Order: sequence, then structure tokens, then C-alpha cells
Amino acid sequence: TLADIGSPRRTKDIIQKHGFALKKSLGQNFLIDRNILNKIVGAAELDSGKGALEIGPGIGALTEQLAQTAGKVVAVEIDQRLIPILEEVLEPYDNVDVVHSDVLKVDLQGLFAEHFAGVEGVSVVANLPYYITTPIVMRFLEEKLPLDNIVIMIQKEVAERMAAKPGGKEYGSLSIAVQYYCEPEMVTIVPQTVFIPQPNVDSAVIRLRVRKEPPVQVKDESFFFEVIRSSFAQRRKTLYNNLASRFFNKETKPALEGILTGCGIEPSRRGETLSLEEYAKLSDALQEALG
Ligand code: SAM
Repeated sequence: TLADIGSPRRTKDIIQKHGFALKKSLGQNFLIDRNILNKIVGAAELDSGKGALEIGPGIGALTEQLAQTAGKVVAVEIDQRLIPILEEVLEPYDNVDVVHSDVLKVDLQGLFAEHFAGVEGVSVVANLPYYITTPIVMRFLEEKLPLDNIVIMIQKEVAERMAAKPGGKEYGSLSIAVQYYCEPEMVTIVPQTVFIPQPNVDSAVIRLRVRKEPPVQVKDESFFFEVIRSSFAQRRKTLYNNLASRFFNKETKPALEGILTGCGIEPSRRGETLSLEEYAKLSDALQEALG
């Protein structure tokens, strides 16, 4: 019988047999550690009734473990060269569909309808290509796909920003956007040695439990996110100055102080100290004042 795809030995054999040259530009760092693979799959809380959507299967190390745990696995891979390799190594599993596509461009609603009909819930599970972590995560959240959770290996600093609480230097618009849609939890920190080739950054596995309802109500979601982005536009500036330069002119500016204090927010505070609740209140008040 064959060793697991993710074992160091089998990974080297597969790469060698197919003469595969890993592409740094596609974030190709393959996992070769069973313990980390188990932690990722375990954190997704899958069972035979559930589906897993994997982004970037590589040569299939994580895909294989998902196939043994979930009822249905769909793996979206951009690199054409990996498709025949995946077909071959995943041949023993009849519950895996490999899709050759760019995850940032593929029709996700269509993909869900086509591949996950009848499953009880879907998790996104991936060792992500780090160069596009944020666009991928934001795409899944903004499209409001029916997801239970997102379990991803990403750069450690990015995971810390996603999970950050107000007040610290890691807290920013990414923290707020992620926490509006999800409850983040760090699963484990991952050393560079579990990949080939080794990346030059530390990694972490994070679980984002997707909320059924947002934790705060806002009148206009896109304006809410615009207010947040503007509040962090220049981190050294006060909230007042950042908002003034984005939403106000000389004539309208005198109203801003009253809007802020009306929400119970000191104008001299910085964007990084405001909670989700305060941003929600502020966004509704600003929108009403600006008309
Ligand atoms: N899952 C494998 C593992 O853990 O060993 C490989 C992970 S590797 C960090 C990232 C994978 O994402 C690569 O296979 C890469 O080709 C793929 N990838 C990069 N950009 C992509 C995109 N835009 N859409 C889909 N897959 C992508």
C-alpha cells in the first residue's frame, strides 16, 4: 500500500516522477507533516454528511485527508500542470472533484450549486497561497456563501491581524471585516520546516466560524466598510482627521465633532481603538448626517 501523499517520501516521489518544478509565484509550498494536516482537518469539524472546498490542492496532501473525512471534496487549482497529477494520485477517492480554475475568478455560487447539492454544510479548508490570502478570504465572506467555517493556513502575522481585538497594533480594517462575518480562533502556529520548499515566514492555522447573523446591525453595509477603511487610512492621524479628509469639506466639517460625541466617541481617538459596535453606530450617524 502507498504512503500518504503528504508524507515527505511520497511527496518527493510524486514531484520527481512528474518532473514537477514548484512555482514560487503561485505560492507553492507543499505540506509534508501528518500532524499539521490532522490539525487542519480536525479544526474543520467535518463528517460524512459535510462538504469541503479546498483552494489550491497542490499535489493533494490535504485533499487526501479531506477525502477520508468529508462526504464530498471539491478542490480548485489554478496550475494546469497539477491537474493530471491530482487525477492520478486521487484516483482511489470517488468523492473528490478537481476543478481547474482561479479561485478569485470562478463562479462560486455556481460551483456550490453544482458540486455541493445535498450536503449538510460546507467548510473551506486550505493551505492558502499567501500572496492572495486577503482577497480570497474577503471574496468568500462578501459573497455570503453558505459556509460553516473556514479553516486556513496563512502567514502568522495575517492570522494575528484577523483575530486581533481593539487597541493593539494588529487591529485594523482586516480584523473588523473578518470579525463582522466570523468568529476567529487561532488553531496552531506552524513552523517553516513542515513545507517543501520552506517559506521564509511563519505560518498559523486559523478557524473562522461563519456567523449566521452579523453581530451588529448597520443601515448600509458598504458604507460601514467605507467608514472603517477611511478611519485607518492614515494610522497616525486621529479618527477625526481621517474622517474629515474623506467625508467632509470646509463648510460641512464643523458638524463632525458633534456627530462623533453624539455616538459617545472622543474625536481625538484613533481608528484602532473603536469596537465593531462603535463603528456601526458611527456609520449610521455619518450616513444620516451626510444624507
Ligand atoms: N494544498 C497543498 C498543500 O498543502 O501541500 C498546496 C498548498 S500551496 C501553499 C498553494 C496552492 O494554491 C498551490 O497548489 C497553487 O498552485 C495554488 N494556487 C495559487 N493561486 C491560486 C488561485 N488563484 N486559485 C487556485 N489555486 C491557486
